[in-house]
Amino acid sequence: MAQGIPDEVLMDTALMEELAEAAKDAAALHGVLMRIQETPNSTELVTYAPFTLFPTPVPKAVFLQALAVQTHYNTLVDKISQDPEFLQEALASTIEVDDFTARLFKIHQQILKEGRSQSIVLGLNRSDYMLDQRDDGSSSLKQIEINTFAASFGGLSSRTPDVHRRILQMAGRLEESQRILDNNPAAGLAGAVAKAWELYGSERNITTKRKRFGDVCKTGYLDQDKRLFVDGQEVAVVYFRNGYMPQNYLSEQTWDARLLMERSLAVKCPDISTHLAGTKKVQQVLARPGVLERFFPNQPQVVEQIRATFAGLYTLDMGPDGDKTVEMALADPDRYVLKPQREGGGNNIYGSEICQVLQRVKGTAERTAYILMDKIHPAPVKNYLLRRDAPLQIRNCLSELGVFGTYVRQGEDMVMNECVGHLLRTKNSEDSDGGVAAGVAVLDNPLLS
Ligand code: ADP
Ligand code: MG
Ligand code: MG
Repeated sequence: MAQGIPDEVLMDTALMEELAEAAKDAAALHGVLMRIQETPNSTELVTYAPFTLFPTPVPKAVFLQALAVQTHYNTLVDKISQDPEFLQEALASTIEVDDFTARLFKIHQQILKEGRSQSIVLGLNRSDYMLDQRDDGSSSLKQIEINTFAASFGGLSSRTPDVHRRILQMAGRLEESQRILDNNPAAGLAGAVAKAWELYGSERNITTKRKRFGDVCKTGYLDQDKRLFVDGQEVAVVYFRNGYMPQNYLSEQTWDARLLMERSLAVKCPDISTHLAGTKKVQQVLARPGVLERFFPNQPQVVEQIRATFAGLYTLDMGPDGDKTVEMALADPDRYVLKPQREGGGNNIYGSEICQVLQRVKGTAERTAYILMDKIHPAPVKNYLLRRDAPLQIRNCLSELGVFGTYVRQGEDMVMNECVGHLLRTKNSEDSDGGVAAGVAVLDNPLLS
């Protein structure tokens, strides 16, 4: 157990109930809010976004390591997105069997054929980590994945620090309350969007509009210079909140809308090649010997810094390496996580189900839709997860640290490359998969130790 709030405090039920009520009140005051499932499109009824009662201890050195490597991850994602041969090679086996990735890849190919119309690139990503517990009690930073598409919670994580400060003050833990870090990824993310907007050459004030793919189908078009117009207004920057899951593309028109935006002069976040750079297959290929060197040929320290965060990642391609992976996983499934090329939480496969799936697909190319990854084991910490309609119960919790990165490139010129904040999410250790939006993890704050 990592050092958290002392057990005698956590076991004081009356105090915990009082703090939980105050915490929910503070969440409402500070805007840690979300809509509810019953009325997902209404703002008439809202509730607090789920969060932990207490912040979670995170070793300072590991936290700083995650921040320090972020700009290198930004560069890496950007370089991959500009390397069509690498993407082609990395994804060749996957797109044979995974229809969704194949469809994205087809758009990517079409854009390459036509030539990219926009040289400004806007990247807003979040690299996620867990702290793997070593035998000696120390922990090592291991990347779970990098999200290049709709990496969320920059807004809410800018607001949770005040809530935890309040709770710690109420609990009489003033010293800890002063150690809660300020965090404002929302400002950094918005700054990068504004930079891209400015470079696009926009002159008026920044206005934002939220549209569904279907709306873009109806009124969107490109003029002869490939400028994108929606509702009669020119669009400088397209930020995709949606479009990372097959379910987001309900019709052929939805795909047409994605393609229209990709072909346009608007700055896309992410553009199609950056979307593909964030796939789990690419993550696995990057972990092969020598691959990072391709992207950082004369920067061994950068390679070292990035590689230090890699967990074991294994191919399931057809061939002897993939065969070995299958054998390894079947022999000891609890050591691994089996991952398809999906996003949004709840898609991974664990334990005995790994054996079921692999027994089914091991002899066929279908297995190449997945990658295998070492399971990371963070130290559990006791805490309470505050969630609407859930009883207040002490839990053994595991946390995942995300780091937000932004970059803007114009042609060859990296105009901006920054680390803009962090996100800590925490879940019950009994839940193996899933993020906040998937209803499993809750928002948290690191307390550096
Ligand atoms: P997604 O793109 O759906 O978020 P992730 O790779 O982040 O996919 O996996 C979802 C969740 O599964 C993570 O938030 C984490 O809780 C758990 N998970 C993923 N990979 C590992 C791993 N290697 N070890 C332990 N847990 C993992
Ligand atoms: Mg993801
Ligand atoms: Mg994730």
